[in-house]
Amino acid sequence: MISIVGFPRIGQNRELKKWVEGYLDKKLLKDELIKNSRVLKETHCKIQKKYGIDLIPSNDFSFYDTFLDHAMLINAIPDEYKNLGKDELDTYFALAKGYQDEKYDLKALPMKKWFFTNYHYIVPEITDRTSFKLSTTKPFNEFSEALSIGIKTKPVIIGPLTFLMLSKKSGVDIYDKNFWEKLLTVYIEIIETFESIGVEFVQIDEPILVTDLQKNDIELFLSFYRNLLCHKGYLKIVLQTYFGDVRDIYEKLISLDFDAIGLDFVDGKYNLGLIKKFGYPKDKFIIAGVVNGRNVFKNNYKESLEILDTLSTFVEKKNIVISTSCSLLFVPYSLKFETQLDDSQKKYLAFAEEKLMELSELNTLFYQHEYTKNSLYIQNIHFFEELSTKKFSDINTVVNNLTDDDFERKPSFEERIKVQKEVFDLPNLPTTTIGSFPQTKDVRQVRSKFKNKEITFEEYDTFLKAKIERVIKLQEEIGLDVLVHGEYERNDMVEFFGENLEGFIITKNGWVQSYGTRCVKPPIIFSDIKRKRPITVEYIKYAQSLTKKPVKGILTGPVTILNWSFVREDISVKNVALQLALAMREEVLDLEKAGIKIIQIDEPALIEKLPLKRCYHQEYLSWAIRAFKLTCSKVKPQTQIHTHMCYSNFDDILDEIAKMDVDVITFEAAKSDFTLLDSIKKSALKAEVGPGVFDVHSPRIVSKEEMERLILIMIEKIGVGRLWINPDCGLKTRKEDEVIPTLQNMVLATWEVRNKKLKNNIKR
Ligand code: GLN
Ligand code: ZN
Repeated sequence: MISIVGFPRIGQNRELKKWVEGYLDKKLLKDELIKNSRVLKETHCKIQKKYGIDLIPSNDFSFYDTFLDHAMLINAIPDEYKNLGKDELDTYFALAKGYQDEKYDLKALPMKKWFFTNYHYIVPEITDRTSFKLSTTKPFNEFSEALSIGIKTKPVIIGPLTFLMLSKKSGVDIYDKNFWEKLLTVYIEIIETFESIGVEFVQIDEPILVTDLQKNDIELFLSFYRNLLCHKGYLKIVLQTYFGDVRDIYEKLISLDFDAIGLDFVDGKYNLGLIKKFGYPKDKFIIAGVVNGRNVFKNNYKESLEILDTLSTFVEKKNIVISTSCSLLFVPYSLKFETQLDDSQKKYLAFAEEKLMELSELNTLFYQHEYTKNSLYIQNIHFFEELSTKKFSDINTVVNNLTDDDFERKPSFEERIKVQKEVFDLPNLPTTTIGSFPQTKDVRQVRSKFKNKEITFEEYDTFLKAKIERVIKLQEEIGLDVLVHGEYERNDMVEFFGENLEGFIITKNGWVQSYGTRCVKPPIIFSDIKRKRPITVEYIKYAQSLTKKPVKGILTGPVTILNWSFVREDISVKNVALQLALAMREEVLDLEKAGIKIIQIDEPALIEKLPLKRCYHQEYLSWAIRAFKLTCSKVKPQTQIHTHMCYSNFDDILDEIAKMDVDVITFEAAKSDFTLLDSIKKSALKAEVGPGVFDVHSPRIVSKEEMERLILIMIEKIGVGRLWINPDCGLKTRKEDEVIPTLQNMVLATWEVRNKKLKNNIKR
């Protein structure tokens, strides 16, 4: 049998993004949104059917986020949103995007990164007022819709432990039987409803099992499922894990009455050892995740078949289901649109659709008596032999010659910051933004004209410079202290650098959902990385020439470029990171030479790829932080280095972040509470900090009073001396009329605090 864990839902040309945005902008009717999406879901089922997928997932579709869908399903949503009196869909979007009218002003629920991916899920909050009950019918409807076109799907839902652990909990004890039994009742009802409508397989996702588990988490898991599994009747339950191995719970997991267990053999290579050591129950299916769901390179059939062969010594062949390691949500839709890539590049790649094909070929080979003689297999072997000759080479000599000196900035932070305070004549609570300004329609249109060669470079350049002039003027009018050039020349903070560095493959349609309707097009790192020419200097220099205020030179850090690209699996990521760092170091030094005094090296993805198991943290952080430091170790003491991070939990690793040795760090805090500031105070981090005072992912206009309150709390927690005032991320995805008033309010709030609280505008 063949299965997949989930399919990309955004559509082959990002149709869903356009429909949802159209609906939210009141340009598309609700009925149309629903009707169009139904056709999209059918298309996705049919394409899987075409490749012979036996267990086709449903309920992996979502208008915005499946975690939020699940919160709606079990009624784990705050009353304020229900009290809006909207229907299900509009309540849903109010939760996702925030809601504002004359009467109400509700924030969007916060988002967090989904494990180590660049997908952001919406974080529900569970409080003592949450009353779990079955509240929507989405998973059942989607099963019935597919059934009506003759496809019996495998509904997918999020498991209770993962849901509880990844939600925010306020005033509840999830380990208390009285608490979790209420949730259990809802899961029983879900399972029974599936059974009553004819579902045969249901997939319950428990990726949390691949993290470090505490004893009480394991106890909770066991108690919950022992109860739930008593209610399953004929229904077969697949307990699906991904993103790693289940070493903390394996023996107990196989003793439960699941019909199938889904294991990841790509990120969770250790799983095979667990099976070898502890065996696997003969009567259960095993969902063998051998095709990588989160990278775009071809599958190595020899390796996959070796895993499957090993499994078949424990489980009967008919019980082995060949599958992806995780959902295909993390890879683009299909290679068929990449008409501009030549075959010498394309032949190494497999996107979602091609992965369906790989699964089907692996299945054929697995059942063939002597598959090593099959031409599919032989071709694949040749292919990987050929690839192994294309190892990274040139720059490695440079990388090997680096010394400790290349990684340490001098003098110490204390000495630098003294010098910098003199150089920059900044007031207390300096205000700034994170870099990008709204990428309005004109920006996107002109860029696409330039890419399609409808306008010349000169015309494009003139347009960008006019945008820069405007945004500099705007920031001066608003009264911000440290300005930015707006990042209008960048389609995306990683793709843009990929386009301007050697060694990358850029796709035309390789979109991957990042959150809600936002998609990114990760570049593919294929060979040695070199900087072809200065990348950011020209426009930043131009922006600085227009104003007396400091303009930040902004670029993306090496670890984020690496983590938001697809990287070949047969080369060392550490070396790729160092190669990227050397390229970005050239850029940093060129900016400094061009007179740019503040340089921000964005690393929003540094923490994202922190290994899920603590025992691997040190190894990752040591090379990631070294790569970051390599980019800025050689700047002068008076050049101020900033970094920006967002959407990750970094409470626990502040002492590691301190090792990055930056002068200023801005980060996301507006939607979370401010416990992070307490942790900062206690940590080794010395840098000045800019915790975002408003959430850039919501269209909500934030009032001066709201931000003033936040600033006062922040001052209390961290002191005036090290505090910067800024939004929590780039403004790129917002509209100008949402952003300008909020930025004005932010500056007014800061002035108010400076005047009232600090009595005068004292210099820092
Ligand atoms: N400088 C980038 C911007 O402002 C940072 C974006 C990010 O953190 N994701 O868009
Ligand atoms: Zn950010």
